[in-house]
Amino acid sequence: MNKNLLAGMFLSITTLAFAQDDAAKYAESITPADLKKHLIIIASDSLEGRDTGSPGQKKAAEYVSGFYKQYGLTPAATASDGSKSYLQKYNLYKRSWGEVYVKVGSKKYEFNKDFYLNGLLNVPQESSSEAVLVGYGIDDPSYTDYNNLDVKGKAVVMFEGEPRSADGKYLVSGTSEKTKWSGPVSWQAKARVALDRGATYVFIITEKTGEDLDKEIRQRAVMARRFSAPTLKPVVETPNSVAAFAVSPGIAAQILNTSPNKLLKERASIDKSGKPLSKQMTGNVAVKAERKSETVETENVAAFMEGSDKKDEVLVISAHLDHIGISENGEINNGADDDGSGTVSLLEIAEAFSKAKAEGKGPRRSILFLNVTGEEKGLFGSEYYSENPLLPLKNTIADLNIDMIGRVDQAHANDPKYVYLIGSDKLSSKLHAISEEANKKYINYQLDYTFNDPKDPNRFYYRSDHYNFAKMGVPVIFYFTGVHEDYHKPGDDVEKILFDKQAPIVKLVFHTAWELVNREERIEVDSNKE
Ligand SMILES: [Zn+2]
Repeated sequence: MNKNLLAGMFLSITTLAFAQDDAAKYAESITPADLKKHLIIIASDSLEGRDTGSPGQKKAAEYVSGFYKQYGLTPAATASDGSKSYLQKYNLYKRSWGEVYVKVGSKKYEFNKDFYLNGLLNVPQESSSEAVLVGYGIDDPSYTDYNNLDVKGKAVVMFEGEPRSADGKYLVSGTSEKTKWSGPVSWQAKARVALDRGATYVFIITEKTGEDLDKEIRQRAVMARRFSAPTLKPVVETPNSVAAFAVSPGIAAQILNTSPNKLLKERASIDKSGKPLSKQMTGNVAVKAERKSETVETENVAAFMEGSDKKDEVLVISAHLDHIGISENGEINNGADDDGSGTVSLLEIAEAFSKAKAEGKGPRRSILFLNVTGEEKGLFGSEYYSENPLLPLKNTIADLNIDMIGRVDQAHANDPKYVYLIGSDKLSSKLHAISEEANKKYINYQLDYTFNDPKDPNRFYYRSDHYNFAKMGVPVIFYFTGVHEDYHKPGDDVEKILFDKQAPIVKLVFHTAWELVNREERIEVDSNKE
C-alpha cells in the first residue's frame, strides 16, 4: 500500500471530523494575512519601538482597544472619572542621573566618559571645595593616612587599594593577604572614613589607566543605565549616601596642581617607606551630581468577553504591548516578534471568539484579553495586574501568554513547525493534557519542552508575564519560539516574521482556550512543580 495514499486517507477523514467541529470552524478566521495586516501597523516605525509609556506604545494601545471595540468586547477597566475603559492605567517610577560633572578650573570632565561614580549622591548645584591628597585614604589601627590631617570641608583625593612593600606584603595585614581597603567595594570603607571626618567629596585615583580604565567606565555606564530602569513602586533614595568619584591619575593630577608622574611617585614612596605622605598636595575641585525623578504613565489594555453559564470564571489570554523603543544611535527597535507577534495573535483570537459568539457559540466562561506593558522593564504591567486584578484571581482559571512566536531559532532551523511550551504542567496536569490534545487534534506541531526543564539555565518560566499569574497560583502556558539574532535589536522587523508558521500556533492557543472555557469542569490546580 502506498504510504502517501494512506496519509491522504487520514487527511480526508480528519477533514470530515473538523467540518462538524465549531472550534475548527471559527479558528479558520485566524489567517497569516490578518496577522500580517495588524503587525504591519504594530511594528511600524511610526510607533517608534513602543517604549513603555511612550506615545508609540499609547498608539499601539489605541489600535488594539479599537479592534476589541469593533468586535464587541467590553472595556474591563475603570477610568479615574468612573467610566469603563479598555485602559488599566498605572505608573512607573524612575530615578536617574541628571547633570553630573567634575570641574577643575574651567575644564569640565564628563560623567561615564572621563570618570565614573561609586554609590549615590545628590549635589543639585555645582559645589566647589579645596582638595587634598590623603595617600590611600586608610584609617586602620596598624596604619593611617589621617595623622595630623584636617579634611573637614575638603574634597579628599586618594589612591585605590592599599600599600604593599617590594616583597609583596601588604602593610595593613603584614602578610600577602589583602584587607578591606582593597577590592571592588573598598571605596565604601574609604568614603565612610573620609565623610566621618567631615570631608565633602571623595575621589579615588583608579589603579586602571588608559584603555583598561576606558573599558571600566563603559561598563559602569551600562550598569548606571540598568540601575535607573523604572520600578513599579516609588524609590526612596538617601540623599547623602556614601559615594566616591573614580578618576584617572590624569584628572587627579589636575585637581591637585601636579603631574600624574609626581602623583604616582607619592604612591610609590608610601609603598616603599610604609609611612603616610610626608608633604601635602592640595588644589581645588567643583562637582555637580544631580539626581532626577520621573513618573512614567502607562497602561495595560484589558478587553472582556462575557461567558454564558459559567461567566464568573475567566480565562486570561495575554501578550505584552510594549518594546524597547529607540536605540541610543537613533535606530528604531520595532519588536515585530517581541512581542508584536503576541499582540496581533490576541486580536485574531478575540476575532475568532467574537464570531463564534455572534453565531450563538460564545464561550461558557468569560475571557479577558490582556495586553500588558512594562514587560521589557521588568514584567511590571502583569505584576500590577496581579496586584490589582480586574477580575478575581481565584476565579481566573488560567493564563495563556504569548511572547515571541513569529520566528525560528537556531535549534529548529530545518523544522519550523514547532513551538516551545513552558509552564503547562507546573500547576495543572489537566492544562497540560488539554494543550497536548489540542495540538494532536488540530495542529500537529512539535511541542518542545526544552525550556520547561527547571534546570534549563535560561529560566524562561520566570521571564515573561505569565509568571505573575503562576506565582499567584493561576496555571499558565507560555508560548514561545525562541530567541534569534535580532532579539532586542533594530532587525526585529515585520519582513522577517513567518506568518505561515505563526498562524497554526495562534490556532493552538485558540483551541486550548476554547476547551478551557467550554469544558464542564474547571481545570484543577493539582501540583506545584518548580
Ligand atoms: Zn517579550
